Amino acid sequence: MQNISSLTLVLTERCNFSCPYCQQLKGKNTLKIDAIKVFLNFLQPQLEKEVWLGFYGGEPLLAWPLIEKTVAYLRKNRKSKFHFSLTTNGSLLKEGHILFLKENSFKLLMSYDGLAQFRRDKNSVSAVEKALKSLQKLYPQGYAINSVFTPATVSLLADSMTALMKQGHQRLQYTLDLSVPWLANDLLTLANELDRLAEFGSDHFQKNGRRPLLNFNSDAEADSKGVFACFAGRDRLALLPDNTVWGCYLFYDLLGHAAENPDYEKYCFGKLPGFIGAGKKNRTVAANYHDLRQDYFFTAKKNLCSLCPELEYCSICPVVAALATSCLGIIPDWVCRIRQVNDKIHALIARSN
Ligand code: SF4
Ligand code: SF4
Repeated sequence: MQNISSLTLVLTERCNFSCPYCQQLKGKNTLKIDAIKVFLNFLQPQLEKEVWLGFYGGEPLLAWPLIEKTVAYLRKNRKSKFHFSLTTNGSLLKEGHILFLKENSFKLLMSYDGLAQFRRDKNSVSAVEKALKSLQKLYPQGYAINSVFTPATVSLLADSMTALMKQGHQRLQYTLDLSVPWLANDLLTLANELDRLAEFGSDHFQKNGRRPLLNFNSDAEADSKGVFACFAGRDRLALLPDNTVWGCYLFYDLLGHAAENPDYEKYCFGKLPGFIGAGKKNRTVAANYHDLRQDYFFTAKKNLCSLCPELEYCSICPVVAALATSCLGIIPDWVCRIRQVNDKIHALIARSN
């Protein structure tokens, strides 16, 4: 394993929402501050000078004291410089939290689906909108909004994202739920929605000189060219609420309750005490992650990604794909078709820039 530059603490399995597309394992496990300290102390010699530490859940605000205690601990004991991030559904976010996050320069990712939010939890809309107003007032540069769309909600994508742009949010992105099938009609709707969104984004830039939509950032797209590799278990690790250690927190959602699956043994570093004691096993598990590269993947129809003309533009998270195909390294066919829709939109955006 190389030096570590990214850590995730999944504080709790508990969540106050039950979103239809959420793949996170739900349960009652919550980390303890002592386990977090042991994990951070053990890794200290392997940490880079700058480390990204992400707090995640479940809903991490349900374990807010753990965030305060971890930050206080690292402020006193750190040898590396820590950059903090927090991913939250925002429904419990109050001004006091925002001031703490600002004081500690957190990057906040608000998971908010805009016009599609009612499908997650219709009672949450007013609470999240209130939190977004507080963020705009108190910490406008510190947050981004991520909206997830599924085949059932994709027809709301353009209107939803444009509404958020009109409200003046500075950093927005949409994510598509790739773990469920996208049929031909869904893809037509997606193409139409992205077309409308690209047009609005271009008008917005002409009028305001800003491009808040991160998906349409052509620089980021150009930077991402190259054969993609998953960096789980290489420069990053995650501590999960049941005290297991994984190369990336997403593996827990796929395998955490499937200890009988051979992939559990292959990708899990074990419970924290074992992880700390097991030098050789850790090296073996870390090596297993090295095969997770786009050119080693293939589609459900057995087309090899290494032979695909899109290879250098494609970066599919193997866990997200496996949530659909049940097999790491196999990509569902609709992902390639979504890739083609995206390419057309990006070509259109590039021409209009
Ligand atoms: S478009 Fe499909 S086949 Fe091509 S690299 Fe991406 S996932 Fe693989
Ligand atoms: S590609 Fe997926 S599994 Fe790999 S590090 Fe990124 S989010 Fe984690």
